[in-house]
Amino acid sequence: MPKKQKERKGKKERKKHPKMKKGSYYRIEGDKASREKRACPKCGAGVFLAEHSDRFYCGKCAYTEWKSK
Ligand SMILES: [Zn+2]
Repeated sequence: MPKKQKERKGKKERKKHPKMKKGSYYRIEGDKASREKRACPKCGAGVFLAEHSDRFYCGKCAYTEWKSK
């Protein structure tokens, strides 16, 4: 007997983060984006390095800059 699809809820309920303030969250995001976006020193301004967990990488010239702790 095939399972019948349950009624879809209109919106998925998101987990609430009671300790996280919306205002501070967005402020950090904006600050991070502008500050951590690094331009490639080889390709010049306009070419940004892709951010990885431990390094920045330029997809154009393969320049890699390791993050310093
Ligand atoms: Zn580059």
